[in-house]
Amino acid sequence: MSRVLLIEDNPANMKLLRDLLVRQGHKVLTAYEAATGLQLAQQKALDLIVLDIQLPGIDGLQAAKQLRSRPATRTTPILAVTAHAMRGDEARILEAGFDRYLAKPIRYREFLRVVAEMIEQRSAVDPACGKEGNDAGPAPAESEDVGSRMERSPGPATE
Ligand code: MN
Repeated sequence: MSRVLLIEDNPANMKLLRDLLVRQGHKVLTAYEAATGLQLAQQKALDLIVLDIQLPGIDGLQAAKQLRSRPATRTTPILAVTAHAMRGDEARILEAGFDRYLAKPIRYREFLRVVAEMIEQRSAVDPACGKEGNDAGPAPAESEDVGSRMERSPGPATE
């Protein structure tokens, strides 16, 4: 079970995304605006944050930057959902600190696939990096087998 924070101001979208995640067995926290979401993110350990870009008050881009600037959420995967999937937005979105983004309307399967990938990457990376951060020291040759076995081949890239 993973813990996912949804920050989305549209009640219909919120319900849809929450139901999809709950059905996958995730524990879901919700916030209808960024300020509340940012607060929750400081209090709870999260495996993924799904963040709407168009929000009243603090928008998703600003919220992502704040999440990235705080130790508790510096490395938490953040998925953007945005109605305005226009050329050029992708760069701004990724620059703000998001790891991935999906355009609305959300397609269920794609959403769940991306969520699963992001959570899987997170859990694959986290324990290994617990002590040494991102610095991969010289790995003993025998560990290579373990490493490649743990790798999953990603599906066709559609980013
Ligand atoms: Mn919105």
